[in-house]
Amino acid sequence: MSDLNKLGLAEARDLLRKGETTSVELTESCLSAIDAADALNAFVHKTPEIALERAKAADARIAEGDAPAMCGLPIGIKDLFCTKGVPSQAASRILEGFKPEYESTVSQNLADAGAVMLGKLNMDEFAMGSSNETSAYGNAISPWRRDGDTADITPGGSSGGSASAVSADLCLAATGTDTGGSIRQPAAFTGITGIKPTYGRCSRWGVVAFASSLDQAGPMTKNVRDAAIMLEAMCSHDPKDSTSADLAVPNFEAMLTGDIKGKKIGIPKEYRMDGMPGEIEKLWAEGAEMLKAAGAEIVDISLPHTKYALPAYYVIAPAEASSNLARYDGVRYGHRATLEAGDGITEMYEKTRAQGFGTEVQRRVMVGTYVLSAGFYDAYYNRARKVRTLIKKDFEDVFAAGVDAILTPATPSAAFGLGEMTDADPVQMYLNDVFTVTVNLAGLPGIAVPTGVNAQGLPLGLQLIGRPWEEGDLLNTAYALEGAAGFVAKPGKWW
Ligand code: GLN
Repeated sequence: MSDLNKLGLAEARDLLRKGETTSVELTESCLSAIDAADALNAFVHKTPEIALERAKAADARIAEGDAPAMCGLPIGIKDLFCTKGVPSQAASRILEGFKPEYESTVSQNLADAGAVMLGKLNMDEFAMGSSNETSAYGNAISPWRRDGDTADITPGGSSGGSASAVSADLCLAATGTDTGGSIRQPAAFTGITGIKPTYGRCSRWGVVAFASSLDQAGPMTKNVRDAAIMLEAMCSHDPKDSTSADLAVPNFEAMLTGDIKGKKIGIPKEYRMDGMPGEIEKLWAEGAEMLKAAGAEIVDISLPHTKYALPAYYVIAPAEASSNLARYDGVRYGHRATLEAGDGITEMYEKTRAQGFGTEVQRRVMVGTYVLSAGFYDAYYNRARKVRTLIKKDFEDVFAAGVDAILTPATPSAAFGLGEMTDADPVQMYLNDVFTVTVNLAGLPGIAVPTGVNAQGLPLGLQLIGRPWEEGDLLNTAYALEGAAGFVAKPGKWW
């Protein structure tokens, strides 16, 4: 069978179980798609030997009738996840040459469920960015282009390599991580599905830390069913991460009935931003209509502290990042600057960090250090923490009033061209996250589902936000939306 790389997880799983294909065939199909797609710069470390070895092992398990959820399914892993013996650089120069001695819990869970790792995926450096333009490996490129145009488009960030690889069918699915929108925004930009689960659902152990109180891993997939399958395989209670939740992981796929009759869907008025493009307004209104037609009740809601979310995020995330990134000192990991005669330990730290960190990471370290400094801690960091509590309470109030899920746009625009934002004020780039950061600040699950294309043929997505720990219900609402939207567009192959 040709084009096996174009399958989703559920389809491939079903064929494997029926004996109509093998994991080796699926894996070889993805490996050749990857080799033919270097122009996308999505896979930055390829691991064909590991992939084929795991594929053979998976075929043997399937032959024995022991096929766990992801058995034999080839996927990509974001470079932020530590993978044993395989370069894990968080797309940073400072981690050049770093090959962890351990495997992250999430990638181990996936391997235990039989998944086949094809390689590591490009991303923004330390997951800081919205366009994959801060990567030490260079930009990841979206397989999508504007109609009649050959300009390179961003796949979004920070999980840009994951988004590009899944939408270009280089793998069946990929892992992503989301601190302020890095699963949902790239998913929306590339016409795929991405879910950030409730904070604590996935273990953060072995995932290079950006902002520890916000970071969560999640799947990036070709459809909602696949997201349900892969999320379940990724989640677990992990004693190695004290913030991981000791809760049973439901069978998410079994919850996909498509029945959302009587569900209350909130439309938050504060997300109707000034200057929002007409195509986003229209997409959002159409999404609400689709859910209504499927039997849901649409209600207007208010989340009054929304306007403070972005400023609070851009205080809290850099504060935590500046502290987390203090460990990259040239001693313990990766890159160390070449020293000159007379240089001491201070020069070693300074030179290593100046060479190893890119501009955006340096900016965040400086902002973070500033907001945590003795003189400004109360004015910035503590105030941002209070705002965070108010944002969380906004959501709690709405859920307490009976709302089951909240519908918003996933992004304020379609994907932009690479380089189009690089000269702009960094705040322009930060604005990409206006609809997604609230969800991380409140620790809630959020999913992006592709529901349309814009006038230039680029994908657009909507976001659904759910109650904490109710990913199953959220996935089901997303499943209903996906079914109604019937998004089938694919990028034309140019690479
Ligand atoms: N774009 C946001 C940032 O740069 C979010 C990144 C993320 O979710 N990792 O902080």
